[in-house]
Amino acid sequence: MNDEGRCGLCNRGLEDVLHVLRDRLKARAVWSMLIKPWQLHTFNSLPPKEWFVANLQSNVDHCNILFVILCWRMWRRRNHILFDPEFVELEDMIVASKSYMDHVLAANARLDAIGMPVASRNS
Ligand SMILES: [Zn+2]
Repeated sequence: MNDEGRCGLCNRGLEDVLHVLRDRLKARAVWSMLIKPWQLHTFNSLPPKEWFVANLQSNVDHCNILFVILCWRMWRRRNHILFDPEFVELEDMIVASKSYMDHVLAANARLDAIGMPVASRNS
């Protein structure tokens, strides 16, 4: 948070818990990948207490557990960015890279199965 109370991450809104966990663009992008489109308006417009209670009580597919983990990770990430100048999101970088690697290996396996040349660093 800067001197005017604006968010130190995006400088777009007053930094409060709801801004960090739900309302800033990066948080909205995360939630929009998980919340059904027809439920997003309600999700994004509930007052803070109702928002927390509703999501903590929603146990369909263990989404209350995922909600808590995502909130914790977003808060943790915010603190790292603001207070740890050496912070690099290595975990996400590694997870994303492994996911890409899995996709490449799966594509190579499919190509190999039909007799097509497989991409390699030598070709
Ligand atoms: Zn912000």
